[in-house]
Amino acid sequence: MNASQPATVSLDTIASLAKRRGFVYPGSEIYGGLANTWDFGPLGAEVKRNIKNAWWEFFIQRRDDMVGLDGSILLHPRVWEASGHVQEFHDPLVDCRNCKSRFRADTLLEERLKIRVEGMSLDDMNQAIQEHQLACPVCGRRDWTPVRQFNLMFRTFIGPVEEQSTPVYLRPETAQAIFVDFKQVLQTSRVRIPFGIGQIGKAFRNEITPGNFIFRLLEFEQMEIEYFIRPESWPETFEHW
Ligand SMILES: [Zn+2]
Repeated sequence: MNASQPATVSLDTIASLAKRRGFVYPGSEIYGGLANTWDFGPLGAEVKRNIKNAWWEFFIQRRDDMVGLDGSILLHPRVWEASGHVQEFHDPLVDCRNCKSRFRADTLLEERLKIRVEGMSLDDMNQAIQEHQLACPVCGRRDWTPVRQFNLMFRTFIGPVEEQSTPVYLRPETAQAIFVDFKQVLQTSRVRIPFGIGQIGKAFRNEITPGNFIFRLLEFEQMEIEYFIRPESWPETFEHW
């Protein structure tokens, strides 16, 4: 390869190579596939395990001020009320009435109309779509539903009868288990502030993904640290890291 001319390789090429070599397979493929889900094959599983082990050793095991946690994916619904996820964790979505395609309204406005959407209300977005006569990127028609907020948390139910059951959410991020277990960790391990809790685990977001291979998936693994300090000593802690 000529060093001055880096080769461009499409994500599709990488995805099919990753499949042939046993790193990453499209999810549920023998049943026609389930969009935006991927399985890590024999080699992919090893790569993932190596990365997680290296991270865990570096950030948790080698440090005196860090401990690990492996929290549950299902948490009490009140955790997500307290964190603001039930109220605030959503995307503005809009549907094309003609071809039934669904889009993120903010992405459409930014990419198609070059409008900055920060701070825009749903009404503002509806108005912008009308004013600029935004056409559907799939079918070209201009027949939109109003923009609506959709919560990004996957909802499920505990108990056999859905109607009578308590709704619960698959965690959209791993941090919350760290916060709700903070006091227990403090009481049951050697740590004192400042210290951190690290965790590796799956998280789930029910969002419209750009369909970029294993980037921005519905189901993904996070490696996350929450580090607890006394506010007045933040400069030393910052330097220490
Ligand atoms: Zn359409």
